[in-house]
Amino acid sequence: MITDQWLRAPGPRLTLNRGQQVVAAILVLLLVTLVVVSIQSSADQRAYTHHTARTEPVSNNTFFTVRDSLTYIEKAEQYLLGVVPRRDVQLARALLAQRLRVIAANGVSAADAASPEYRWALNALDSVIAEAPAGILPADQRTKWAGTILPRAEVLSEATHALVAGNPNGLHRFDRSAEEGLLRGRVVQLAMLIAALVLAAALVWWIAANVVRQYRDTRRAFDDERDTLRKTEDRLDRVSALERGQARILERIATADPVSSVLRQIVQLAAEVSGATAVRIAMGPRSVVYPIGSDVSEAPAWTGTVTDTADTAGTLEVYGDPESFDDLAHTTLVRCRDLVTLALERDASARRLSYQASHDALTGLANRSLLLSRLSQSLMLARHRGTPLAVLFCDLDRFKMVNDSIGHAGGDELLIEAARRLSTTVRETDTVARLGGDEFVVLCPELPDRAQAITLAERIRTTLSAPYTIDGKEAFVDASIGITFADESTVSGAELMREADVAMYRAKLTDGSHINVFDSHLEAEVAQRLDLDTALRHAVGRNQLRLSAQPIVTLDTGVITGFEVLLQWHRPGMPVLYPGAFIPLAEDNGMIVEIGRWVLRETIETLARWRADGLALDLTMSVNVSPRQVREPGFAEEVLQLLDKAGLPPESLIIELTEHALVDLRVAHPVLARLRDAGVSVSLDDFGTGYSSLTQLRTLPVDQIKLDRSFAAALDHGDAKQRAVVQSVVSLASALALDLVVEGIETVAERDTLLDLGARKGQGFLYHQPVLCDLARALLETGGVCAVPAEGSYSALAASAVPSPSLSVNVRSQLPSPSVST
Ligand code: C2E
Ligand code: MG
Ligand code: MG
Repeated sequence: MITDQWLRAPGPRLTLNRGQQVVAAILVLLLVTLVVVSIQSSADQRAYTHHTARTEPVSNNTFFTVRDSLTYIEKAEQYLLGVVPRRDVQLARALLAQRLRVIAANGVSAADAASPEYRWALNALDSVIAEAPAGILPADQRTKWAGTILPRAEVLSEATHALVAGNPNGLHRFDRSAEEGLLRGRVVQLAMLIAALVLAAALVWWIAANVVRQYRDTRRAFDDERDTLRKTEDRLDRVSALERGQARILERIATADPVSSVLRQIVQLAAEVSGATAVRIAMGPRSVVYPIGSDVSEAPAWTGTVTDTADTAGTLEVYGDPESFDDLAHTTLVRCRDLVTLALERDASARRLSYQASHDALTGLANRSLLLSRLSQSLMLARHRGTPLAVLFCDLDRFKMVNDSIGHAGGDELLIEAARRLSTTVRETDTVARLGGDEFVVLCPELPDRAQAITLAERIRTTLSAPYTIDGKEAFVDASIGITFADESTVSGAELMREADVAMYRAKLTDGSHINVFDSHLEAEVAQRLDLDTALRHAVGRNQLRLSAQPIVTLDTGVITGFEVLLQWHRPGMPVLYPGAFIPLAEDNGMIVEIGRWVLRETIETLARWRADGLALDLTMSVNVSPRQVREPGFAEEVLQLLDKAGLPPESLIIELTEHALVDLRVAHPVLARLRDAGVSVSLDDFGTGYSSLTQLRTLPVDQIKLDRSFAAALDHGDAKQRAVVQSVVSLASALALDLVVEGIETVAERDTLLDLGARKGQGFLYHQPVLCDLARALLETGGVCAVPAEGSYSALAASAVPSPSLSVNVRSQLPSPSVST
């Protein structure tokens, strides 16, 4: 583009140098002189003209007198020869006479100016002519008359010539000198004019030479300027080609064009803008060259390294004359190299994204979307080939609790390990996916029958429930597995997933194997249970929770030493739900924190009321607490504040935590220590069902052990081994000064054996079932002793008006067998 400045730049001006100025001055001087001389000369000319004008009539008269006289003589001679008649001679004489009468400017007539000799000769001729015969002179008389006329004509002729020759006056001399003066003036004028012309020509030539030189300089400057302009335009074209090409490539990169096509465009741009003969991206199978088929065997003129990740690196090679690469070419190559890097990074990140979109970030397993797409493929194949297709839905039991206790990083480690175990347990053709949280799905396209599916599920459970070592500590989880099979009626993969999910949910709710094969009849029941989740979220707000209490008694006397508080859920128009049916749900969805807080407050307030009424003055209240509650910040302070506010001694409260919870809660020991220091007791609930060994009892921060009810049941069967185990527990508790409470005593036989083994305290239906707080208060009011039949079991007591706890929870056949490692 031509700049304004360039347009405004002044063009070359015609200026005279010093020499030219001097010449011009001389020329001007000369011209002025010439003008002066001319004026002078004109004046002289005018004077001369005036003078000649004054003298010339005299001369003219003489001249014409001479001429007319000679004509008269000539006519006379012609008359003599018979050529003209006498009339012509007389006519000529008349003209002469007229001439002689002309008076000149000086007032003198021609006749007067003529000499007397002339006048005499004229008269002499006139007289003979007058006598000569008229008309043409006859030939015979010519000789005669010639003798008369010719002599007189000769005399007149001489006198006539004498008129001219004899005029030597001063006027003629003046005329000559004036004419000479004028001539000299003219010569001077001419010389000056020539000199002026020469000077002017020289000046013009000189100036012209200057102008030509200036023109040439200007022309050269203009050519240079044009050259620069052309170069600038060329550069601008290349810059704009680079910018356009770069923008186009960036757009392609942004819109995720295939990387191979982007690389092709980059080499083309690099070659076109830099002027290289060939450009190549050398990167294994991704190598690309422009122009296609170029010879790139020589060493490149320029090389740039391009890389996206450490494992994908290559070079941008440029061929051609290195001298021909200007700075723009270098800029282009550097930019193209950066574009290649960007394209590769974008491609790598797109591949990463697509991997991430189909894989679980934590475990690297397939995610839900990949699973669903594989599921629909497998389903299609299964339909066409009639091959079986099984889906196993695995959910880790207690994972949330473990996650809370070992922290999220630890939880992640556990999940990664679980994923690894799952992947190594199944076949390569199977797909293992993680749906999020602790849910895994195994898609088995070649599992031939139900029996094998169940065998696989059992194998998976065994693998997953083996101990995990996280941060040097052991953690335990189980797995519940739901299985479903595709059949002719299966419409979609999503349907299969839902069926497996339902089966898993059911597996979770049943004790025992925790494996369930989908059965369409159970679907409604499971759906109903799923509704519980929603309902539970409103249970506290809608005041649907109630506390029940089960007496803890001295085994031999039945005297109540305290109560264990147990929760119930009273939904309008529906059967009462007992903790086993909803506490795991509350643990899962986190509602347990809010519910637990409510239980604690209600318990403390109830005890405070009883005490205010003079009841239960030495009794303790045992409250079941979830580890999630304990981990809530300020839990200990909250409990102590509630006690303080109610005016109760901390010793009146016992917090029950299961073995699992306590092991997981080791990190929360400071909280428990704070409570114990204040006087609150901690009880190890369901002892014997978990994984802690008897020796661990020494280190656990507990004041009381509650031996799981399965031990009492085993005693009833006269199991000698179990008896020995209970004996050891009783001894150990006594040795460690721990309070021991035996749970689930249902028969007199159990009680007696326990008494034999040295157990002192217990609870169970033999003494009393859990009852709503009002009834429990009534028990206290009537003496605080639980009557025990002399023989038999609690069923014998059924006459008492207490409600029966949910059988689904308390039926012994569903309980896990006791396990205490020693
Ligand atoms: P747990 O703490 O071991 O409570 C004792 C359970 O055994 C109670 O069941 C009780 O009704 C039952 N039981 C008592 N005596 C006998 C007997 O002689 N035979 C049989 N078969 N069962 C007996 P429940 O009320 O269904 O509670 C189940 C579990 O729910 C409790 O076990 C406790 O771990 C949990 N739970 C109950 N209430 C709460 C609560 O408020 N918070 C928390 N976190 N957990 C609670
Ligand atoms: Mg308990
Ligand atoms: Mg218990």
